[in-house]
Amino acid sequence: MGIYRRYISLKDPQKTEEQIIKVHGSYGALLFDRRWKDKRLSILERDNKRCVICDFNENLQVHHRQYHYIEMSKKFKVPWDYPDKLLITLCNSCHQRGHSQYKVPIIHI
Ligand SMILES: [Zn+2]
Ligand SMILES: [Zn+2]
Repeated sequence: MGIYRRYISLKDPQKTEEQIIKVHGSYGALLFDRRWKDKRLSILERDNKRCVICDFNENLQVHHRQYHYIEMSKKFKVPWDYPDKLLITLCNSCHQRGHSQYKVPIIHI
């Protein structure tokens, strides 16, 4: 769980986004957490196991539309702790393209 620990304990929000994307876009340690697996599956099922952009049904990933930085604890929210409306199903290529074109907003809470 080394990657995950780094992900939630980073203190510099600017730098952190790159790290999050790196971890989030890959099948890294994060995805082995049962809570993420369950959350991810519920999002995939809600979206009928298809990319919401291109309708493709393979290589699916769940994307966060915002990242929440908790001021009080100086940590990012754990990935499964987001409301469903902030999570969407994307295929790998739409996901990578999205991340290269748009910056995911970081909301300080
Ligand atoms: Zn797609
Ligand atoms: Zn993403």
